[in-house]
Amino acid sequence: MKYYSTNKKTNPVSLKEAVVKGLANDNGLFMPERIEKFDPSFFDSIDRLPFQEIAFEVAKKFFGEDVEDEKLKEIVFDTLQFDCPVVQVTGDIWSLELFHGPTLAFKDVGARFMARLLNYFLRGNNGEVNVLVATSGDTGSAVANGFLGVDGIHVYVLYPKGKVSAIQESQFTTLGQNITAIEVDGVFDDCQRLVKTAFLDEELNRKMQLTSANSINVARFLPQAFYYFNAYARLKEKGVLKGAELVVSVPSGNFGNLTAGLFGYEMGLPVNRFIAANNANDIVFEYLQTGDYKPRPSVETIANAMDVGDPSNFARILDLYGHSHEKISQMLKGYRYSDEDIRKIIDKVYRNTGYLLDPHGACGYESLEEYLSEGQVGVFLETAHPAKFTETVEGVIGKGNVPLPGKLAEFMKGEKKIFRLGKDFEGFKSFLLG
Ligand SMILES: *Cc1c(COP(=O)(O)O)cnc(C)c1O
Repeated sequence: MKYYSTNKKTNPVSLKEAVVKGLANDNGLFMPERIEKFDPSFFDSIDRLPFQEIAFEVAKKFFGEDVEDEKLKEIVFDTLQFDCPVVQVTGDIWSLELFHGPTLAFKDVGARFMARLLNYFLRGNNGEVNVLVATSGDTGSAVANGFLGVDGIHVYVLYPKGKVSAIQESQFTTLGQNITAIEVDGVFDDCQRLVKTAFLDEELNRKMQLTSANSINVARFLPQAFYYFNAYARLKEKGVLKGAELVVSVPSGNFGNLTAGLFGYEMGLPVNRFIAANNANDIVFEYLQTGDYKPRPSVETIANAMDVGDPSNFARILDLYGHSHEKISQMLKGYRYSDEDIRKIIDKVYRNTGYLLDPHGACGYESLEEYLSEGQVGVFLETAHPAKFTETVEGVIGKGNVPLPGKLAEFMKGEKKIFRLGKDFEGFKSFLLG
């Protein structure tokens, strides 16, 4: 299948090219030229399929022309070595727990899938491909762990000195193998500038094959549709959907996760409405109210993975619905929450139900509590494990109440290996070449 650019100023490309390049030549985002619908009968018996089988059926609709079935099945099954279960929080509100992967956040799914698809496309390629990734914390850990041990690919993670938490740092500095961690004496923007400059540097590109593992890559964003189908299947299996409408709420920052849900809907997934849950970075909330899209610099919040002032995947939503505010606001309802709201929600839900939300999932939960009416069932995406935000969460429910999951504790025990560089490009370039 071909992939076109949302800016439509360049020719459509193959899946391989879209995955290797990430961004189109005209700086647009790649979109699949077709979205294939499932036969409605698929949903009658979807609850009899396990998660991996459902994901394979979804994957075939996008990647089936470009990757042979057997290989695609292997990639999907190898990606999904963990479950994405639905767990009841209150009567009609369910949590889709996306934190059972290696770094305890939903980005594991996309990062693991992309690593395996890239490896497949690069088979028989001479020499190594180098993935450069700048991170303020979570993306680096998902990408590093997703690509860990994948043949023919080396990952360089650049992160700002003193700006990531000890847990986050341990998740990409202790891996070894094909993962190199570089601490930059600067801020996140310096890391991002180094990576961007590297992609434009003629000599570097001649001597090394470089690519990014950015969240806008189609191989990272489309696989996120898998778990929406699984949520539907598991709720149906539990018998909670009988005649009820399904509402799905997505805590959103760059809007990749939500866009993948909308793709699921276009493939026929029976969802009645999607909710975009924002923190104080409420650009899309404002758009839904007014029809004006006004990007602005992000502000820091305690749900920091959603601190985005100009969500890149919004271009995909506009393209999907022909830039129609009317259509988009029929599909999507917006809610926004301040830090104070988020703390109150975590506290309330923990006291009433014993379920511990992370600051991102808290926005998803509350929007359902506000939105749902009679005859509706809601599921929100719990995008990370609360232990990844111990300080905030324990600040609400009390110290010592958030045990560190085994997986995170293991990272903390590992030996860190870090290269330290300044923020000048020449230093970074000679490091890469040397
Ligand atoms: C990345 C992230 C988000 C935001 O997801 P988008 O796809 O960028 O909208 C929400 N919560 C957590 C924990 C994240 O890591």
